[in-house]
Amino acid sequence: MNKYPKALEDLINCYKYLPGVGDKSAERYALYTLFSLDEGEIVDFSNALLSIKKDIHLCPNCGNITEGELCEICSDQNRNHRQIMVLESIKDLLTIEKVNEFHGIYHILNGAINFSKGITIDDLNVESLSEKVKNKEVDELILATNITLEGETTARYLKELFRDYDVKITRLASGIPVGGDLSYADEMTIL
Ligand SMILES: [Zn+2]
Repeated sequence: MNKYPKALEDLINCYKYLPGVGDKSAERYALYTLFSLDEGEIVDFSNALLSIKKDIHLCPNCGNITEGELCEICSDQNRNHRQIMVLESIKDLLTIEKVNEFHGIYHILNGAINFSKGITIDDLNVESLSEKVKNKEVDELILATNITLEGETTARYLKELFRDYDVKITRLASGIPVGGDLSYADEMTIL
């Protein structure tokens, strides 16, 4: 026998879809799944995998992930919808929310401008934010992209883009070291 049965080979190949999982780890995970998970755990696992694409989508208002029509934050009328913090990723949103000091809403760009990788403003989620600014639905934009070359470039671009509109634009994250990623910042640094 120079190969596992097809079902096991299929599972090994699936684990290799994950970042950082090579042949050896995939084989180990697949054998563990076969011998150490019980039927119920495997059903939970496969159901969770199926539902992640079926039930989760991006909030049309801000780009956060949600199971509802709008995300929890955009649905919350107690938050200030005229103050918008612009972030690169959903991970950054969770970091800020943990501090629990920000009562506006967010806008997730889903990345940052990166010329060396060919990522321009057109690849980012900017359109709905532009609409809001143009429709005068925003009093303040807090640019909280990461303090990296890409994050700074993106912040500068957005500042320029909205320069002629009646909106206050601020830059958050002073105090985070250059090259810093928001998710590594501690609570004190952020606010
Ligand atoms: Zn939302």
